[in-house]
Amino acid sequence: MFILHIESISASGWALNEQADAEGLPLLHALSRETLIHFTRPVQAQLHARRLGDQVAIDGTVKTTVVLTCSRCLEHFESDVETNFSATAVPERPVVPASIPKEEEIELSGDGIDVIPYEGESVDLRNEIAQQIIMALPFKPLCQEHCKGLCSHCGTNLNRSTCTCQSDAANNPFAVLKSLKLPNK
Ligand SMILES: [Zn+2]
Ligand SMILES: [Zn+2]
Repeated sequence: MFILHIESISASGWALNEQADAEGLPLLHALSRETLIHFTRPVQAQLHARRLGDQVAIDGTVKTTVVLTCSRCLEHFESDVETNFSATAVPERPVVPASIPKEEEIELSGDGIDVIPYEGESVDLRNEIAQQIIMALPFKPLCQEHCKGLCSHCGTNLNRSTCTCQSDAANNPFAVLKSLKLPNK
């Protein structure tokens, strides 16, 4: 599962079209155990690998479906997550070509090219796939673009119904903002 065997990469490259349970990827398993995020579909990877000397460039897409919690109304909702995958597998040995900066650990930042160190004849893509999915998750999930959230007074989900608090401007802590005069610049 999500293992690339270097010797099976032919001159025209190598294509991977696999899916695996999110729970089978240690990073995603840990994420769903420690957060409210749950994976409802397997992780699907459509990747293409090609050799560049002893390095392997891998790109494609990875996708899955998650249940997230809306950061405004706290409702759970399902969301498809799809992201472009891009990484370079580099053999783990002292001599590293100058074009790739020496990396002892896999980059978590997501910018630039991710480097997967590998030993022997196979590259384990599971952590990199999991990381790229995690990075594609929204930082502030919203069930819909214009989610109205919860009434801060009575807790009513304003997407579903209305309450009388809103019309009562005196109760609105932000009402005072309307009467503020901002200095002209
Ligand atoms: Zn919402
Ligand atoms: Zn209310």
